[in-house]
Amino acid sequence: MTNVAKDSPLKPFAWQESCWSQLIQQHQSGRLPHALLIAGEEGVGKHHLAKAFAAYLLCRTPNNGACGTCATCLLFAAGTHPDLLEIRPESEGKQIRIEQIRSLQQYANKTAQQGGFRVVILKPADAMNINAANALLKNLEEPGENILFILLTHRLSAVIPTIRSRCQQFSLPIPNDEQSLIWLKNHLSSQASLHAEKLLKMAQGNPLMAQELALESLHKQRDKLVSLMEGLTRGSDPVELAPSFIEGEIRWTLRWMQQWLTDWCRWSITEDEASISFPDMLPLYRQWQHTATLNHAQALFRDVGRLRTQLASGANPNAQLAMEALLIRWADKMLV
Ligand SMILES: [Zn+2]
Repeated sequence: MTNVAKDSPLKPFAWQESCWSQLIQQHQSGRLPHALLIAGEEGVGKHHLAKAFAAYLLCRTPNNGACGTCATCLLFAAGTHPDLLEIRPESEGKQIRIEQIRSLQQYANKTAQQGGFRVVILKPADAMNINAANALLKNLEEPGENILFILLTHRLSAVIPTIRSRCQQFSLPIPNDEQSLIWLKNHLSSQASLHAEKLLKMAQGNPLMAQELALESLHKQRDKLVSLMEGLTRGSDPVELAPSFIEGEIRWTLRWMQQWLTDWCRWSITEDEASISFPDMLPLYRQWQHTATLNHAQALFRDVGRLRTQLASGANPNAQLAMEALLIRWADKMLV
């Protein structure tokens, strides 16, 4: 038995209220732009907000939000509304292709089938090569009537400036700890919610990420990663370990590697065990202490960050080769 709550897809999260009321106000006063760029960390609910706002714009009888019961709301709930188009890479870590943007062009030139707004949600707005981005730019420069583009990104600086300048930007905040904890406890099984604080800490205060962390598969992945890291620290061959390092969700693997480096640096400076965020890593931290320097750990942190960016934007298609190179650098900087 669980007590897991479900969010209404028609309402923003509690921490999105101010952004939400600004959007509604702009629409009601006829000042909605043709394109929005919603930025914010991974897991703050950008897509959730975009969908709820799209539902509101498409609804026939909205009242500060979609009604949820009219004919268009029912189409929306079934995922078959003809005036909502979502564009995203065909698989995670790939880029949005120019063909996808071209199909958008045809869509943008039509009039709304339900007689009102048409909405295009595109995510992530930073995962496009220059040709696709230029094709999108054409759409943003000459939008049709009653069409709204909603672009989402958690890497705002990677969105090309000409696209940024065509959009009204919103920055979604991370909720405060109290809001996060309330939301998280409502969205975990009663068993998992006993660990809500710990999960939230591991997710650096980000509630949707914390919810994901409660997944059994991620627990296993993390446990496995810790033992792989033990192997690397004992001197196992980085090239042989690399295939295991890229199993599972690599974005989480890289995130943990960065968190451990930050955690180790903090402990290394303060020498205070109470400051450690991941106490299970302490035996490894102690070993790194003999061989690593802060400078090396910081350089490595940047290397891992670069790989995260490349993989997230689809710019580095060979994860295994990239992981081999990263682990060789890790061994070189932390363990020699
Ligand atoms: Zn409705």
